[in-house]
Amino acid sequence: MNRIPEIMIGLLFAGAAAAQTSEGPQPPVVDPGGPGMAPSDAIVLFDGKDNSHWLTMEGKPSKCTVGDGVMTCRTGAGDTQSIEKFRDAQIHVEFNLPYEPAMRGQGRANSGVILMGRYEIQILDSYQNATYANGSCAALYGQSAPLVNACRRPGEWQTYDIIFHAPHCAADGTVETPGSLTMLHNGVLVQDHASVRGRRCVAGEGPIVLQDHSQYVGRKIGTAAGVTEGAPDTIIKFRNIWMRRLNQ
Ligand code: MG
Repeated sequence: MNRIPEIMIGLLFAGAAAAQTSEGPQPPVVDPGGPGMAPSDAIVLFDGKDNSHWLTMEGKPSKCTVGDGVMTCRTGAGDTQSIEKFRDAQIHVEFNLPYEPAMRGQGRANSGVILMGRYEIQILDSYQNATYANGSCAALYGQSAPLVNACRRPGEWQTYDIIFHAPHCAADGTVETPGSLTMLHNGVLVQDHASVRGRRCVAGEGPIVLQDHSQYVGRKIGTAAGVTEGAPDTIIKFRNIWMRRLNQ
């Protein structure tokens, strides 16, 4: 009569035996900081005071400007790269996009966070602005569309929290083992262990590159009817950028 309860108790004890505790080393202590603060073990790449951690792609001082705790990158500044290089990392970036109603699709507030200088996390005003899915905001450009569109309106601050594992490369430059990307956009899961590949695998480390999309002005970009094609005067704002190295 009591056969079923006895079996359940047996299964309970079996499960407890499988989940053994151990007296291993304690995890390192990290002060997570308050809102808008970097964790205590993070490498701070932009703290609102200066952009001394950033350079042009030619290795000269960044042409983005700093004021009121914000890094402002305007059309023509060119791509801006971090001096710090990395592979596997947790990265936090906050950005604020302009409202460009005359533009559409890829033409509307296009920037990007390019990991290792190669794998672009798209920045785009995708709030009520459709484009191809794997090129929309929070996409791993050309590879993985976001799971959902978690965009805020232009003019509002947005966050990326990125967990990136770089692909492993074979000697011939092909991908031996794909990398992975997990990412929150404004606190919402948008990439869940997405596979990271590339046309050419990059060994070693690389920088974070903040994209100035106006360099692609020669390509067709989206404009509303009656607007002459050309790169709009786009001002992308960044703040509170930090990184934690992983597996090192
Ligand atoms: Mg882009």
